[in-house]
Amino acid sequence: METNHERISAAVKKVLLELVEERASQSSGPSGIFETIDEAVETAVAAQKRLLELTLEHRGEILAAIRKTALDENERLSALSVTETGLGRYEDKIRENILCASKTPGVEDIEPRAYSGDHGLTLVEYAPRGVIGALTPITNPTGTLINNTISMIAAGNAVVFNPHPNARETSIQAIQAFHRAIVQAGGPPGLIGSVWKPTLDTAKQLIEHPKVNMLVATGGRPVVNVVLRSGKKAIGAGAGNPPAVVDETANIRRAAISIVNGASINNNIFCTSEKEVIVVDAVADALIKFMLETGKACLLTPEQARSVTTVVVTADGKINTSFIGKDVQVILKEIGMTLGADCRIAIFEATRDHPLVWLEQMMPVLPIVRVSDVGDAIGFGVEVEQGNRHTAVMHSNHVDHMTAFARKVQTTIFVKNGPSYAGIGLGGEGHTSFTIAGPTGEGLTSARTFTRVRRCTLVDSFRII
Ligand code: NAD
Repeated sequence: METNHERISAAVKKVLLELVEERASQSSGPSGIFETIDEAVETAVAAQKRLLELTLEHRGEILAAIRKTALDENERLSALSVTETGLGRYEDKIRENILCASKTPGVEDIEPRAYSGDHGLTLVEYAPRGVIGALTPITNPTGTLINNTISMIAAGNAVVFNPHPNARETSIQAIQAFHRAIVQAGGPPGLIGSVWKPTLDTAKQLIEHPKVNMLVATGGRPVVNVVLRSGKKAIGAGAGNPPAVVDETANIRRAAISIVNGASINNNIFCTSEKEVIVVDAVADALIKFMLETGKACLLTPEQARSVTTVVVTADGKINTSFIGKDVQVILKEIGMTLGADCRIAIFEATRDHPLVWLEQMMPVLPIVRVSDVGDAIGFGVEVEQGNRHTAVMHSNHVDHMTAFARKVQTTIFVKNGPSYAGIGLGGEGHTSFTIAGPTGEGLTSARTFTRVRRCTLVDSFRII
């Protein structure tokens, strides 16, 4: 039966979608949102040229205005995102947006390099690509938009977004807000843009548009493959299935807290979040005990785990998308369980062949697999990561164990002794990115990713030592 919250969400969603339809019938304006992809791209081409006429200092001011707007609008956009998409948690969206607004690098990321020697001076500069076409996901619409907007403009580009159709109102509102900030800071109108009704058709038009110089896809494997087949320079940020491996040398309490926090942030929809735990048998009981002691996890019996699996995995072995990103209370209600509001994640012991060990569930239901020793744990961790080369986590105090797993799993992000999100800069060192380019190898993207590298050589002069 529908809960009160679900009924209200459905009603709000209907109103939001009607609002978009109504706006779409209005004419294109200086809001950054256009009737057609062609209009958005043509405007972006002109805007990008104008951006290059501004100083780098001015570009920095534009970025500061976008960051400020992202923070000022955070509560509104986070609430809208949760309501419209039905995914994630409001308080975690707030953290996501603060992270992206504050830890996405700006123009400092494109600082030039220089070589000087007997033959003079060579300068290597990071030049813009031009107009970027960016496809953004339903899972983190606002974080990705903040992060991509800052990175792409910092590199001197314009960007036309084709957001996920089911996150369109949130995305359009975010793009409009950033567009306003850009123009108020003296930037050119149309530097970022989108269309009123993003669809798979408009995505195709964007991908194929002759004036789009670079494509960036943040999403599942299919969309990454689409941009890779485009014949254009493309950055693909795809799916993962991050394992968290725990060995007998780990600080088990710390591992338990980290896994509960990392796997439950935004109801597990971050591509980096722990999707299964692999623990050495000798410490498995302690790990589960400490996870429960956090007060944020509940342990399912084997029977409950079987029932919930039939709910969240379809008969043909796929994730039931209706439960992606939902609160654990909503999921477990399906099997007649009522949980307190503090619970953020359900955990259960699973066999190696359990579907949730292999599927990217993106919901707060976490399988825990016991293995005999660390060698087995590492080997199985590599298997379940399935060559995505995305993210892996290890809890251990043994340098050789950590080195062995990192070498074998070959992921873009490898987090040791902390929650997975430390790897994207939340409570870990380094900048953030919500476009983690594993398939194409750029890693955590930043301004420099969205550039062309150019070299300028002056022969026999300007060596000053
Ligand atoms: P999705 O692939 O369904 O959608 C992503 C974007 O691609 C959307 O804008 C969508 O409209 C577009 N799209 C999808 N199929 C397309 C096609 N055939 N042609 C053109 N455009 C297409 O992904 P999602 O459900 O929004 O996001 C969740 C997935 O994304 C998960 O697998 C998650 O791991 C992954 N993800 C990866 C990263 C990363 O940085 N690597 C970040 C966020 C999400």
